[in-house]
Amino acid sequence: MIKIQNYINGQLAPALSGGWLDNYEPGTGQVYSHIPDSDASDVQAAVDAAEAAFPTWSSCGVNERYRILHRIADLIEERLEVFAQAESRDSGKAITTARSVDIPRAQANIRFFATAILHFGAESHHMEGQAVNYTLRQPIGTVGCISPWNLPLYLFTWKIAPALATGNCVVAKPSEMTPMTAFLLAQTCIEAGLPAGVLNIVHGLGPKAGQAIVEHPKTKAISFTGGTATGRTLARTAAPMFKKLSLELGGKNPNVIFADCNFEEAVSTTVRSSFANNGQICLCGSRIYVERKIYDKFKDELVRRTKALKTGNPADPENDLGALVSEQHRAKVMGYLDIAKQEGGTILCGGEIIKPSAELSGGYYLTPAVIEGLPNDCRTNQEEIFGPVVTIQPFDTEEEALALANGTQYGLACTLWTQDISRATRMAERLQAGIVWVNCWMLRDLRTPFGGVKNSGVGREGGTEALRFFTEVKNVCVSY
Ligand code: NAD
Repeated sequence: MIKIQNYINGQLAPALSGGWLDNYEPGTGQVYSHIPDSDASDVQAAVDAAEAAFPTWSSCGVNERYRILHRIADLIEERLEVFAQAESRDSGKAITTARSVDIPRAQANIRFFATAILHFGAESHHMEGQAVNYTLRQPIGTVGCISPWNLPLYLFTWKIAPALATGNCVVAKPSEMTPMTAFLLAQTCIEAGLPAGVLNIVHGLGPKAGQAIVEHPKTKAISFTGGTATGRTLARTAAPMFKKLSLELGGKNPNVIFADCNFEEAVSTTVRSSFANNGQICLCGSRIYVERKIYDKFKDELVRRTKALKTGNPADPENDLGALVSEQHRAKVMGYLDIAKQEGGTILCGGEIIKPSAELSGGYYLTPAVIEGLPNDCRTNQEEIFGPVVTIQPFDTEEEALALANGTQYGLACTLWTQDISRATRMAERLQAGIVWVNCWMLRDLRTPFGGVKNSGVGREGGTEALRFFTEVKNVCVSY
């Protein structure tokens, strides 16, 4: 049985308490490794190590930070297959997703921010004949990074990389449900020569190890991705301590499909945006609104293609969907299928538990579902399900589509399908979302701002937004 270790002050070690937690393999439902059940004492050790490393790391210069971060990215790239298999086994995601999305993007995150820091500048404001102001963007110190289970290494590195590149030292916690690739990352950092204490990875439960990171007076900024309810708890703890906070939270993203869309692209991308990673991506579209003129045609094609998706062993590259992340999560998703039925919805396909083989009979499999016939204000259309479940409804006018799309507490991403550039521009302006994709989905340029409005979060990640978040601003005014 693999024993995952914390990574504190450059060393791999169990929790100080000696406690362990079980780590389940979603594809089989069996415990296959243990993770440290860390608490505030481990977080204290991690913060001490980070504080000790900070003076050297923050002043070693951008070229040195670039060099080491690139080395880490190189090693991940060399071991892509090892990382991908670990990610697939640990999270239940299809191996093809881990190989083509998660791990390539994790190394790209590190490479992107390693390079971005070389080009990061700050403002200067000239007061003619009087003074010049220049802005310094300096590292903050020790920062906390907390990430979820759906894109484990991808989102972990999305936070850690800009934090390290800007000269901070980090205390990070991956999800207790998907700790494995963070452990591999720790081993990789040691090999790459990352100085001790610069990055510290503490494993364990959210309300225990995670809470201790947020509560610690020396973690001066917290970057968090996870559920909206958890974000609220974090904000309650961090706000009275005046910490900088970046919160990337839940979503209930709409796909708005007009009759003048490129039908083939719209339907094939909608299948992907609905069910990629078992629908467990914060950017997945889960409310599909189709202009009535093409509603039946679109629905039939969506259902036909959804039924053709293969769900099964995550390790088999033939499968489109693997297992959901946990038994509890599958039960939650299935609970929403019951709610949808009670609310008057018709399940057009999917929503069935499957057992791909005797060996995998304990795995958390669920076939992808499409639901029709629900009003916008019902729970199924208002609450985040975060699984392979989408709803579909018709609309008649642009105004109606806009009201439906904007009609939830969330505002992360939206997908818009139309060939009419004026309509796309008009709609994009009025959609309440941090990200609008027109005739595409998950097309990501790492320089662009990433994040949501309303209950989907506070702040933005990506590009200079992340570099700004992880730096403290100081204005220096020099009089002539
Ligand atoms: P979660 O909120 O349960 O957990 C996220 C992380 O926070 C985990 O590491 C967990 O251990 C930790 N945590 C839990 N309680 C904590 C506490 N009190 N203090 C500190 N840390 C704590 O979320 P999840 O179930 O792991 O992930 C799914 C959610 O994440 C969904 O809502 C999804 O939409 C969201 N998500 C958002 C984005 C985005 O960019 N907006 C991206 C991916 C996932």
